[in-house]
Amino acid sequence: MEIDITEESGDTIEFELEGVSAGFANSLRRTMVGNVPTLAIEEIRVTRNNSGLFDEILAHRLGMIPWEFDPDNYDIHEECDCDDGCPECEVQMALQKEGPGTITASDISVPSEDVEPAKPETKVADLKEDGELDLEMTAYIGIGQEHAKWQAANTSYSYEDGTFHFKVESVSGLDPRTIVSKAVERLEEDLEGFEESLEENL
Ligand SMILES: [Zn+2]
Repeated sequence: MEIDITEESGDTIEFELEGVSAGFANSLRRTMVGNVPTLAIEEIRVTRNNSGLFDEILAHRLGMIPWEFDPDNYDIHEECDCDDGCPECEVQMALQKEGPGTITASDISVPSEDVEPAKPETKVADLKEDGELDLEMTAYIGIGQEHAKWQAANTSYSYEDGTFHFKVESVSGLDPRTIVSKAVERLEEDLEGFEESLEENL
């Protein structure tokens, strides 16, 4: 397998892949979209919300905020060895603001030093003079297969003269190069797991 990066800018990377089957190319595409772990807000405890937005709408907006984080420091919530969430699969966050003003992702306080909003200007709500938000949140490490809010990238590819041309656009806080390498890692893990279960069952 040979990967040749042909273009890289901001959230997008393009590369050519040779010496693999159509099945592998498709697995790689699907893994980059739905199986590379990212971070998204999942639980919200509302102490006060008089922003004019229903709690559900606020929760949806907060859930869609992409976060930069170091993927090597965390495990997927569902796959973590803990029972009920731990600092390796969850990140605690809080949002306490009074109006008037526009509340953005940058107003969310996160104690973890390696976690910050990928797009700090993402709007959460407008608060009026007497408006107030007081929320505690838990973000999980998850994958796009579970919910679109954990989707790492949009990906497409074409096939020409024995070569797959991939285009990967990050829609998460991970840079596209990390998404490609994490996807390859995940595929390798899946194959190892498959091999182990084969050995156990033969
Ligand atoms: Zn855990």
